[in-house]
Amino acid sequence: MQVIQVAIAVPMSQLFDYKIDNAIATDSAMIELSQTELASGEAASTASVVARSDNNELLGCRVLVPFGPRKCVGIVLRVDVESDYAISKLKSVIEILDSSPVCSEQMLTLGQWMSEYYHYPIGEVLHTLLPAALRKQQSGKTKAAVATQSYLQLHAATKAHSEVDELLARSVKQFDLYCLLEKSAQRLSSIKQQFSAAIIKGLIDKLLIEKVDVVEKPDEWTAQLSISEKPLPNVEQAMAISTINLANGFDTMLIEGVTGSGKTEVYLQIIEPLLAAGKQVLILVPEIGLTPQTVGRFEKRFGIRVGTLHSNLNDTERLQVWQQAKDGSLGIIIGTRSSIFTEMKNPGMIIVDEEHDESFKQQDNLKYHARDIAVYRARQLNIPLVLGSATPSLESLHNALEKKYRHILLPNRAGSAAMPAQRLMNIKGQPMQYGIAQGMLDKMQIQLDAGNQVMVFVNRRGYAPALLCHQCGHVENCARCDNPMTVHKSANNLQCHRCADIRHLPKVCAECGHNELDTFGVGTEQLQQGLESLFPDYATVRVDSDTVRGKGKLSKLLQEINQKKYQILVGTQILSKGHHFPDVTLVLILNVDSALFSADFRAPEKLAQLITQLSGRAGRSDKAGEMWLQTHCPEHPLLQDLINNGFSDFARYALLERKHAALPPHEHQICIRSESHHKHLSVHFLQLCAQIFTQFKHAKVLGPFPAFIEKKQGRYRNLLIIQSASRKYLQQVTEQANKALSEMPVSKQVRWSIDVSPIDFS
Ligand code: ADP
Ligand code: ZN
Repeated sequence: MQVIQVAIAVPMSQLFDYKIDNAIATDSAMIELSQTELASGEAASTASVVARSDNNELLGCRVLVPFGPRKCVGIVLRVDVESDYAISKLKSVIEILDSSPVCSEQMLTLGQWMSEYYHYPIGEVLHTLLPAALRKQQSGKTKAAVATQSYLQLHAATKAHSEVDELLARSVKQFDLYCLLEKSAQRLSSIKQQFSAAIIKGLIDKLLIEKVDVVEKPDEWTAQLSISEKPLPNVEQAMAISTINLANGFDTMLIEGVTGSGKTEVYLQIIEPLLAAGKQVLILVPEIGLTPQTVGRFEKRFGIRVGTLHSNLNDTERLQVWQQAKDGSLGIIIGTRSSIFTEMKNPGMIIVDEEHDESFKQQDNLKYHARDIAVYRARQLNIPLVLGSATPSLESLHNALEKKYRHILLPNRAGSAAMPAQRLMNIKGQPMQYGIAQGMLDKMQIQLDAGNQVMVFVNRRGYAPALLCHQCGHVENCARCDNPMTVHKSANNLQCHRCADIRHLPKVCAECGHNELDTFGVGTEQLQQGLESLFPDYATVRVDSDTVRGKGKLSKLLQEINQKKYQILVGTQILSKGHHFPDVTLVLILNVDSALFSADFRAPEKLAQLITQLSGRAGRSDKAGEMWLQTHCPEHPLLQDLINNGFSDFARYALLERKHAALPPHEHQICIRSESHHKHLSVHFLQLCAQIFTQFKHAKVLGPFPAFIEKKQGRYRNLLIIQSASRKYLQQVTEQANKALSEMPVSKQVRWSIDVSPIDFS
């Protein structure tokens, strides 16, 4: 009888022992094989049956096991174990779900490392690493998803030339497409980039062409690789490319390149030789940066299909890309945070674009940072890792300056574009409309009249951040969060941006009954309305999380902006993320002064990144661009430094300040959060934590103090920060403390978590 240890996704750190009856083992093997036979249409080889009976093959496979009253999917972490329990006491595995491991040994090692590093139960870590479809309790085997690719080709019943000429006499575009396909069948995705859907449909309806789905074989992409025209790299790009190409094995490189310096072009050129050698490349991009435009650029350059992984995919689509990466049938995989867990058959390189972006850190459950995982994985796979940003995180910059990473600088914009001018607008005492100073409105008018686009940033979505009674001063708050509710006029309601609670827009004050309700402050909705009335001759578009909700919405808006359907772009952070708007010549930033006075030591870094990224949307082609920042504090040193000396100067100075203040990245932190409906419980738990940590000599204990969002959904939120100069020491003492904490009775009464290297204290 064989005993295995299984990791199960429960909040417990141990593994669980199960026995496998021989009958089950062979049984499942046979079922599995007949299923693969069906899926692939090939005869089962006896080799896999033999391999299957080898116990080690079970490592990393999923098993269905009884767990209390439930059945759970677990992952086999150890085989042939000597259980501490009598065999007769052990429960049996119900079913073995895989014929080959879903987690390679490397993934299992990664999982174990993450479990220790992030102080998180191994079972839950391993389940995070897998696509959701594999985590579900399904006893049916996951069939190997068959990758197909749509092609357009001439219709099987080809028509005579004269007939074709007649049918297409009225449409030049349809004729062009027909001629293209006459030469050879083409991939639908690439045709879609050149011809509209109506033209394609027109030809299909006339029965001149047809769509066929072709099953792609693993590795087939290498044959399809065809490099389309590319710009000659400038001197700095050329140096970056040769430095990276020379990297042999694991090496981390930080590209610090100003906005529009041609980082993406560098990525394209460094992965070319890798793809030609049949190697796969994994590219991580921020949540909002993964648009068809980004993907299209890679597909167009290399003529191969790019696999994408993002939150808009359903479980099956996600599983399919994951499997294709694993079996080597995708050359390029572009994805957001969790795609860092994609396995590749022939890994060649990992790239993290906009590496400073906060969406790379998961803020709930397992609080991992994809950039940290990327470093671990690149080392494990012995491949280069490229981090790129115009505004690198101070963490990465520190590593580059300390020579732990190679540092590559692209200080100039590529092509004919020049850096935008950056200016401060002192608005003290200025007449304002919708939060915009009159002087700025004049500047907007000039750019608009010249046929250019103007972008206006405000950090609040909705109509106004608060509803106020003019009679009694009452502000409508969310009762569960003690926070003003945002007025949304288009939806005609009040919304709490913390807990997403929604209420009807009241007509009278809830406190005094008067009907003189006034809004306070300006959000994107109001700004859009205001600009529409001030500039009636120009079309305004709003880009915020309300208007981009839904599949394909953001890309549609971005496309329409680039087609110049709109001249005024109003939006939040989303507008700052890497987009290429060649006709934007003026970027206007409103309302960021409060960040100058934030208690968060990371606030200056975040603000400088935001301003620089926003400003980087201006003047990206041959038209000169400028950024204006409205402020009541034009003399503030942060703004002065940033505007006059640029981000790279600011960042180096900020690093120095962090050093003097003994803050990250010079020292290391973990944050313990606790939440409870009872304020005193939340604080009390952290006080007990503090007592435990103060025993450790080389750890500083800060707090407890309230989180920046002090109350959310009725729960009071508090934090405790533990800091040390040694990451290793911090890791060890946290591990010890974690055990002690879990045993405290009060730990069962609050929601608490450990956040390693926290970046957000809300
Ligand atoms: P980044 O990723 O740094 O924002 P991109 O790679 O998107 O920069 O480049 C910005 C613009 O400059 C793009 O339109 C790109 O096609 C163009 N570009 C990049 N490199 C060159 C080059 N060497 N010569 C001419 N144009 C270039
Ligand atoms: Zn709320």
